[in-house]
Amino acid sequence: MIYLDHNATSPYSVSVKNFIKNEMIDAWANPSSEHAEGGKLANEIKLIRSEIADALDCSSKSLIFNSGATESINTVLSEDNLSSFGVKRIISSAMEHHATLDRLKYLESKGWEVAYVENDREGRINRDHLKNLLQDPRKALLTILYANNETGVINPIKEFANDVHSAEHLIHVDAVQALGKIKLSLSDLDADFASFSGHKIGALKGIGCLYVSDIKSFKPILHGGGQERGYRPGTLNYSAIKSFMLALKDVMTIDLERMHEIRVKLEKELKGIGIDINCESSERLPNTTSIMIPNHVGREILYQLSRKNIYVSTGSACSSGSFEPSHVLKSLGLSKDEANSCLRISFGFNPVYEEMHELITSLTEIVKS
Ligand code: PLP
Repeated sequence: MIYLDHNATSPYSVSVKNFIKNEMIDAWANPSSEHAEGGKLANEIKLIRSEIADALDCSSKSLIFNSGATESINTVLSEDNLSSFGVKRIISSAMEHHATLDRLKYLESKGWEVAYVENDREGRINRDHLKNLLQDPRKALLTILYANNETGVINPIKEFANDVHSAEHLIHVDAVQALGKIKLSLSDLDADFASFSGHKIGALKGIGCLYVSDIKSFKPILHGGGQERGYRPGTLNYSAIKSFMLALKDVMTIDLERMHEIRVKLEKELKGIGIDINCESSERLPNTTSIMIPNHVGREILYQLSRKNIYVSTGSACSSGSFEPSHVLKSLGLSKDEANSCLRISFGFNPVYEEMHELITSLTEIVKS
């Protein structure tokens, strides 16, 4: 199998596999139990939290474990939190993940004002338009991707945070796809909120964390036990939390330069067989390439590749099943036919060039036929 759909989910990292095989079976206790078995896991979670905080370069007090980025995004964009942080309006982009866009649609239906900042064909946010939107004195929350899951385009978050804070607004970063694929330091980024997901870096599914700079103003969306200091009640999933830490440590050792070189080489060969690269001139993730195969239907090519055990995706996994072209590609200004002729190739943390070569060989056969 040649798996080139890592932006949808990543196979378990080496350390996570070892943990599952050797330790997970014994890690069943409830970390909130007062007996020794529970206490042991609670102590471990304390250590894990500080290891994750070190890796993300933030205080461990600002991290809340939860089920993943969909939950984080919905929590930051909950009406309780928007009110608590004094937010009166929201700014976002049309290229966000559905977790954000669908939440924003819901907020709009409740009367919230949402402004969408313009972008160009290369997937770049129009910074002048953003600055314009930030001129409104009513406190705004900018919620924006660090890196786009379909095109891989990286937003200049530090610059956005600067614009946002100079105008006394707030910024939430969906950092799901950036984690492990670019150097990331929360203290350097200066975001007010950031969302992360474990399964995109090789952890178990259903685990993520939310970073909140001003944790004291934060409001939970769930009410129950006192876990996560009441910010996210519910029995802690020790195994998933541990897998998140292990996967994070594994991806921190990745040679990003090599990843980037492989993408460049792959794209050169793709262009050589008449395939176009979306957002080619933008700064992009080292593992992601969105391609357009003129006069072909991406979904049909996906099925043909799948029969050869090569797995890619059309648009994001969350929108597969729907034959509407991806909202991200549409917002770049691609026509319906162009968007439907696109595929996303997203490789893993230790890419093997021979696998890319097999992809090229198969694509060449398909395109020629
Ligand atoms: N944001 C981005 C950019 C994503 O790619 C995803 C996953 O597809 C999510 C948010 C949702 O993350 P999770 O699966 O942890 O809910």
